[in-house]
Amino acid sequence: MRISGKKLKKILTEETLKKVKSIGEICMESGYPCYLVGGTVRNIILKVPQIDIDIVTEGNIRLFEALPKKLKIKKIVFSQFNTAKLLFKDGCSLDIAQARKETYPYPASLPVVKKSSLSEDVKRRDFTINTLLMGITKKNFGKIYDYLGGIEDIEKGIIRALHKNSFIDDPTRIFRAFRFKERFSFRFERRTKTLIENAIRSGVIKKLTPQRIRKELFLLLKEKKWYKIVLSLSHNGILQELGIKNELKRVIINSFEKKISDFINIKRNRELSKLLLITEDASEKEIKTFSQRVGLKKKESELLLELRKGRKRILTTLSKKEVSNKEIYWLLTSLPLDAVIYLLSKATSQSRKRILLYLNDLKNIKIKIKGDDLKKLGIKVGPIYKKILQKLLDEKLNGKLKFKREEIEFVKRQFK
Ligand code: ATP
Repeated sequence: MRISGKKLKKILTEETLKKVKSIGEICMESGYPCYLVGGTVRNIILKVPQIDIDIVTEGNIRLFEALPKKLKIKKIVFSQFNTAKLLFKDGCSLDIAQARKETYPYPASLPVVKKSSLSEDVKRRDFTINTLLMGITKKNFGKIYDYLGGIEDIEKGIIRALHKNSFIDDPTRIFRAFRFKERFSFRFERRTKTLIENAIRSGVIKKLTPQRIRKELFLLLKEKKWYKIVLSLSHNGILQELGIKNELKRVIINSFEKKISDFINIKRNRELSKLLLITEDASEKEIKTFSQRVGLKKKESELLLELRKGRKRILTTLSKKEVSNKEIYWLLTSLPLDAVIYLLSKATSQSRKRILLYLNDLKNIKIKIKGDDLKKLGIKVGPIYKKILQKLLDEKLNGKLKFKREEIEFVKRQFK
C-alpha cells in the first residue's frame, strides 16, 4: 500500500509534510531508515487529521542535532531513552525515537529498554493497528510497511493485541484498548477480548502506579465518546478494580452528556465533572479508595467527597420557590466550575434555570470600585473593606448598582 501525496496533503498540513520530508532526507543521507510510525500511520490510513507526529529510526537520535536551519527549530529535547522531541518555532512538535525492544521484568512494571531493529520495535507496541510504518525518504515516501497485519485490522475495524502477555506486561493497554475501540467504533478480536478479561480478573490493574492510571483515565475522559468508554470500563469490572463497586447506570451517564453538552469541550474537557458523575453513588470509603488508586490530587478527592455529602442540600435549596440571586451566588461560588456543571446535570427544571443564571450571568458580576476608591472616600483601611465589598456585591447580584458612580453613592450612603 502506498499513500499518495494528494491524500497525505488532506491529512497533514503542508508545513508538517515539509518537516517530515526534511527528516527523511537527513536519515537517508546518513544511511539509516526512518519512518512515520504507530498512531500517526493509523490515523493517516483512517484519514484522521493530526498534529502529533511520531517517527522511528534505527539511526542515532543525536543525528538530529544537525537539522537544517530552514526547518525553524526552536529547541530539541533529548531524553535518556533515545528519543528526541523537536519543537518548532511555529508551535508544532515532532517526536523521534530510536528503534527499541522492550522487556517487562514483572507485571505492570516499566519496561527495560534496549536499542534494536525496526522489526523488533513494531513488536513492542500495543495493537496491530498501531504497528504500521510509513516511508518518508524520496525513494519510499508514502509506502506503508505492515509486518503484523495492521492494515487488514484497520480495514476490518479490529483491535488485536500482539501477544498473550500484552495486558499483564502493561495493563495501561487495557485502558488504551477501550479508548481506541470506542473512538474508532472498532471491536475486539476474540482472543484479545479474552486476554483483556483475564488480565482484569487477575487484578493486575491494581499493580499500576496511581500516576499511570490517572494518565490513562484522564486521556479517556477527553475522548468524544468518553461516556461509552466509561460505561465499558464499568461493565467490564475495571472501575470496580479502581474502587467503584456498583456498575454505572447507562441512563444516568447518557443523560449527563445531553444535559451538559453545551458546557463540555469549552476550553477544557471537564474531566472533574465526569469524575463526579462516575463516583456519585459510591460510598465515602469507595471514593477514598478510588482517589488513591487513580492518583487524584487532594483537592480533587475532597471535592468528590464534599459533593457526595452536599449536592442534595445545594440542589434542594436551588429548587425552592423563592431564591434570591445572592443566595444562588453564595451557594455556588466556592465550587469549581466542573462541580457546578456536574450539578447542572443533576438539576430539575427550576434549579437548572438558576444554575444557568449563575453560569451565564451571576458568576461574571464584578464590583467596579477598588480599595483605592474606598480610601479616597476617607474610609480607614481595615476589615470593614471586606464587609463593604461583600455588601456591594450582594446589591449588584440582585440587579442594583450598574455603574461605578452608583457603587460609590451606595458606599457613601451606607458606610460613611
Ligand atoms: P492517540 O491518537 O491517542 O495519541 P496513539 O496511538 O498515537 O494514540 P500514543 O500514546 O501517542 O498513542 O503512542 C504512540 C504509539 O506508541 C502508539 O501508536 C503505539 O504504537 C505505541 N504505544 C503507546 N503506548 C503504548 C503502550 N502502552 N504499549 C505499547 N505500545 C504503546
